[in-house]
Amino acid sequence: MKAIVVGGGVIGASIAYSMSQGGAEVTLVEAGRVGAGTSSTSYAWVNACEKLTSRAYFELNWAGVRSHCKLAEEFEGANWLHRPGVVQWQDAGAEAAGFDEGDFDKFERLREWGYPVEKIDAQTLAELEPDIDLGTFNEDGALYYPEDGWLDGPVYAGAMVAAARARHSLKVVKGKVTGLLVRGGAAAGVTLENGETIEADVVVNSAGRWANEVVGNPEHELPLAPTVGLIAYTVSCDTSLRHGLRTPLVNCRPDGAGRILLRANDIDKGVPADADPVPSNPAAQKLLSRVKKLMPTLKGVHVEAVRTAIRPIPKDGYSAIGPHPALSNYYVTVTHSGVTLAAFIGEGVASELVHGRDVAEFSAFRPSRFF
Ligand SMILES: Cc1cc2nc3c(=O)[nH]c(=O)nc-3n(C[C@H](O)[C@H](O)[C@H](O)COP(=O)(O)OP(=O)(O)OC[C@H]3O[C@@H](n4cnc5c(N)ncnc54)[C@H](O)[C@@H]3O)c2cc1C
Repeated sequence: MKAIVVGGGVIGASIAYSMSQGGAEVTLVEAGRVGAGTSSTSYAWVNACEKLTSRAYFELNWAGVRSHCKLAEEFEGANWLHRPGVVQWQDAGAEAAGFDEGDFDKFERLREWGYPVEKIDAQTLAELEPDIDLGTFNEDGALYYPEDGWLDGPVYAGAMVAAARARHSLKVVKGKVTGLLVRGGAAAGVTLENGETIEADVVVNSAGRWANEVVGNPEHELPLAPTVGLIAYTVSCDTSLRHGLRTPLVNCRPDGAGRILLRANDIDKGVPADADPVPSNPAAQKLLSRVKKLMPTLKGVHVEAVRTAIRPIPKDGYSAIGPHPALSNYYVTVTHSGVTLAAFIGEGVASELVHGRDVAEFSAFRPSRFF
């Protein structure tokens, strides 16, 4: 089988790796740099504990977490997956999890569904994260996910592409896809901006938030409801922060070499799509002042860099993974939570397209629901 994968983010790179491993002759077409799209500007929390709005969505993400763990074990020296644990004392209630019922208990739900979670008090938090001002903590305690963590998207995507090139026959083409090549009602390849065409038996669209720009035909577009995210990075500092934290002030985690990555949902809501990604950006400065409240030891630390990104979200908020109903040989993978899902989507797409075996976890998330 000859396959084209459009887009080398965490998802396209995973698919290119797994399909190559399965014996397909894969061409990965990437307009920019592998891993430099939304995958490079992500909180990248690898989790299923925030995906409780449906059992199917939880199971999909839980499969995602397990796939990442398994894949990292298979790669000697895998350096992209970090799992020190995550502490949450914001949005652990019903409303944030997408439920109306007041008696929804996130801890109980996660235990029932088999997710590693513990309840911790202020004393345990102080042991886990000594720099936190306990005055900012919640009387009700927090949820601690001891096996959660995050993934360095560009490092992971780069490793998948390098492995598929070295061990299998992956070809990487730098170019922008401007349309699908359609023959007899089926996708037969892609057209590039420079006029070249590449032919294949199947085309997989993994261009994330740009997925509709790839198709060149409004009939094949997917309805999307993208949102803007802003991330600020502190300078390297002598922080003792080790875990991911989801707090009412800010979500933060280590980002290597003493840098701390900062974001907050409520701040994101006020960020325009054309926000200037500079350290003086007011949203970034607000994140900084909040993290200093959370950890007063950060006094004197400043923002070194800011990035903004658009989340690739299908219109109903859930993943779109599967064949396009209006065009044979054309397969779509557009989703939020893509960092969590990448390895599993890679394996699953290879299972469906190379081996002809449907993946049960994908069944509730087919793009056909939109057409
Ligand atoms: C602020 C923020 C926080 C997030 N937090 C989390 C989180 O905690 N956990 C989680 O799991 N997910 C999170 N996400 C979502 C996650 O980052 C994305 O779902 C994921 O990165 C999408 O990966 P992708 O491979 O689909 O897209 P991308 O990484 O954007 O890759 C798409 C690639 O396609 C290429 N491309 C585009 N157009 C073309 C074209 N015409 N021709 C060729 N190539 C093209 C681009 O250059 C790019 O490299 C977050 C996102 C944001 C913005």
